[in-house]
Amino acid sequence: MKGKIIRLLKENKNNFISGQNISDKLRVSRTAVWKYINQLKEEGYEIESVSRKGYRLLNSADLLTYEEIEDKLKTNTIGRKIYHFDSLDSTNIKAKKLAIKGENEGTIIIGEEQTKGKGRLGRYWTSPKGKGVWLSIILRPNIEPTKASYITQIGAAAVSKAISDMGIKNYIKWPNDIVINNKKVCGILTEMSGEINKVNYIVIGMGINVNLNKKEVPKELKNKATSLKIESGNSVSRKKLVANILNNFEYLYDELIEYNTITKSIEICKSSSALINKDIKIIRRNKTKKAKAINLDKDGHLIVEYPDGTKEGLISGEISVRGENGYV
Ligand code: ADP
Repeated sequence: MKGKIIRLLKENKNNFISGQNISDKLRVSRTAVWKYINQLKEEGYEIESVSRKGYRLLNSADLLTYEEIEDKLKTNTIGRKIYHFDSLDSTNIKAKKLAIKGENEGTIIIGEEQTKGKGRLGRYWTSPKGKGVWLSIILRPNIEPTKASYITQIGAAAVSKAISDMGIKNYIKWPNDIVINNKKVCGILTEMSGEINKVNYIVIGMGINVNLNKKEVPKELKNKATSLKIESGNSVSRKKLVANILNNFEYLYDELIEYNTITKSIEICKSSSALINKDIKIIRRNKTKKAKAINLDKDGHLIVEYPDGTKEGLISGEISVRGENGYV
């Protein structure tokens, strides 16, 4: 109901709309309208109320609800249904629960904050309220389960391009992070449920540090985490960023669905790679190996060359990659 009220207020932007009018249109009592308006004000909407005139929207809240994003969305399915939470444990956990219940492809889960944000291999992801984009997308692609890592490449390309298009240069640290000045601004976590040759669903989670100030980055992450605001010097519109990501994501994902390839995503991942041509360390179950990153192949494997001249195509899975001296 709050969403419907916001829509009406937006349709009447600059004008007053009476409580009676809202109540007639939405078939709820005037007292209910008044209560919803108060809730919206508490959420951060600036709504002017004048007796005998009604309500007028002065400023929207900085919230990642469907009503706040839809006017910038160009997609058919991705993001056309958004579950928005003020706070939740983890958007991936919620997405998986909804996927199990049969939620359709393209549905998005967004939390203003996550209390148990997840990284890979059970690591944590700090997700303070209103400061980032913490979202997950439910997908049901008809692909072989071994190709689930394609989704991570599509996601990384979609986020990287969205950030570049907002004027902020960034790099993709294969397979699942976006970095600026060698520090992480975004992590991606792809989880799949499937059988041997069939995907039931895939959930791709994205955690983007958008408007965190320096002091909001946890101490232990100071050397490896940053935000778009810290790096660009300006606050960034989370709403525009989400819409741009979803628009890019659908465009790139469509290639996978139609042609079973991800050339466009790989192109972006290559041209924005933080690793190609660099000396790196590959960490696999606590063992570290030195190598040079050479290229990305059409399936999104990182081709590396070892000091003895042998080459290998790395599959994301359980590998972490580090720069020779530090995080990248
Ligand atoms: P890695 O980058 O080590 O391969 P992940 O991609 O799984 O690992 O990310 C999880 C790690 O990212 C955590 O262990 C933590 O060090 C770091 N981290 C947690 N929250 C954030 C954040 N908001 N921004 C950047 N890095 C974070």
